[in-house]
Amino acid sequence: MTNPNETLKCYDVAVIGGGINGVGIANDAAGRGLSVFLCEKDDLASHTSSASSKLIHGGLRYLEHKEFRLVREALAEREVLLAKAPHIIRPMRFIMPHRPHLRPAWLIRTGLFFYDHLGKREKLAGSNNVTFQPVDSPLNKDITRGFEYSDCAVDDSRLVILNAMQAREQGAQIVTQTRCISAQRMDSVWILDMENQQGRFQIQAKVLVNAAGPWVAQFIREDLKLQSPYGIRLIQGSHIIVPKLYEGDKAFIMQNDDQRIVFAIPYLEKYTMIGTTDREYAGEPNKVEISADETAYLLDVSNDHFKTQLSEMDIVSTFSGVRPLCDDESDNPAAVTRDYTLALSQENVSDAPLLSVFGGKLTTYRKLAESAMEHLQKFFPEIKQPWTEQALLPGAENLRSVDELITEIENKIKGVDTGTAQRWAHAYGSRVWSFLKHTGSVHELGQHFGHGLYAQEVDYLVDAEWAVDSDDILKRRSKLYLEFSLDEILLLDQYLAELHERRLQQDVA
Ligand SMILES: Cc1cc2nc3c(=O)[nH]c(=O)nc-3n(C[C@H](O)[C@H](O)[C@H](O)COP(=O)(O)OP(=O)(O)OC[C@H]3O[C@@H](n4cnc5c(N)ncnc54)[C@H](O)[C@@H]3O)c2cc1C
Repeated sequence: MTNPNETLKCYDVAVIGGGINGVGIANDAAGRGLSVFLCEKDDLASHTSSASSKLIHGGLRYLEHKEFRLVREALAEREVLLAKAPHIIRPMRFIMPHRPHLRPAWLIRTGLFFYDHLGKREKLAGSNNVTFQPVDSPLNKDITRGFEYSDCAVDDSRLVILNAMQAREQGAQIVTQTRCISAQRMDSVWILDMENQQGRFQIQAKVLVNAAGPWVAQFIREDLKLQSPYGIRLIQGSHIIVPKLYEGDKAFIMQNDDQRIVFAIPYLEKYTMIGTTDREYAGEPNKVEISADETAYLLDVSNDHFKTQLSEMDIVSTFSGVRPLCDDESDNPAAVTRDYTLALSQENVSDAPLLSVFGGKLTTYRKLAESAMEHLQKFFPEIKQPWTEQALLPGAENLRSVDELITEIENKIKGVDTGTAQRWAHAYGSRVWSFLKHTGSVHELGQHFGHGLYAQEVDYLVDAEWAVDSDDILKRRSKLYLEFSLDEILLLDQYLAELHERRLQQDVA
């Protein structure tokens, strides 16, 4: 972890929160020539931004809630983001089994027509009808037809990390494991108090951006001692992970009797991820976890659709997150708007401004950041033009195709297994050479912790991607967490403790 200089530096923008919205804004602002500081109290993406359904999608069901602005923007963003980060984002076909008692075919076809035409679409294929043969189909035999359309799947936590890396490369200072404990306006600047394991320090900033996700309103009330301009609805969503339910790389979108939809999505080669739920959440966002009701609900929806019948015993893992949604006073948690609202506040015109982010989706983070910059333009009239639409994220530079990169890795690194080459190519893209550059064989990669994770990659993640502990590496950066045994995790923890000690000694020297 890096610490800022002891002197009270004044940044143009200080961002609170290292989820997708915070890093997206930090990156956009840094690229426009502003000096930027971002603090994250835990690891990057350790909360909502790693607990998503991992889709870059227009949101077919939001059409039913008449969220046309959001759907149009999100649909267009699919291809923009796909081009920016083809290693961590991939097109995916979605199959919606037809359940005539829930939604008539004409309604779904109309929705899909809008979905195909509302946003710009060049690479993603359009929708079509499908029929299922009882013998081959993984679905229950009463489901004989359905619809198919395109969206994209993303490695959500890596999308956050790549944006943070790009922000840093443009001069932003990103500090993790560092909480902003309070901030006060002092005339035209903010004085921010930060706390981490090493102690406390202060920074100054001309503008404060509150991208604290589920903590956005709490941060305003408790740490800034101000009134929040909007209410926030915390809506929990959970997923279960089970062994692969069916072959192939398509996802299913299942309609449930309560009018909600639930996805079954291929996950990490060996698994299927089933989710999500929508329930009001009143607890501390740090502590969110799946409830027995949610587990039963997801198993029921899956069993209503698939031949393979699941029970709790089949669940390999679960994860839950809290959507920080802007309160639109909707009665139904599933219907609360998924759109974002940015609130700019100043008590007097000469006061340092506060920009708070309410709601949002992974899919629309880049547009949200552009919109944040429009709000800040009047305070920084000299800032550069929007730039993120065309800019590649780290790892997408010089990347002809992920398949070619996999072959290149296999040719250059003797003894590497295909699964590891695929994982490296998808996680790091062309940046994989940052830690493989001088390597000709897996035997040169240092200690092997299991499942293709070697010391050289771990060192890279600590030095270049803010990783501190085994969760940072296994859950959010390599997604190897489902493979590692407790003993293997212990070995990795031990190595990390020694590595941090070595780095500390180097810093002192
Ligand atoms: C179940 C579920 C499924 C979803 N699926 C999708 C999907 O498929 N596609 C999609 O586009 N979107 C999806 N979303 C929405 C998307 O995940 C969220 O909109 C997005 O991740 C919110 O990001 P954020 O940066 O606002 O919040 P977060 O990711 O929670 O980041 C906020 C960060 O602020 C930090 N923080 C808070 N207070 C402080 C402080 N005082 N000092 C320092 N740091 C602080 C927190 O530690 C946290 O890391 C889903 C959400 C959920 C819950």
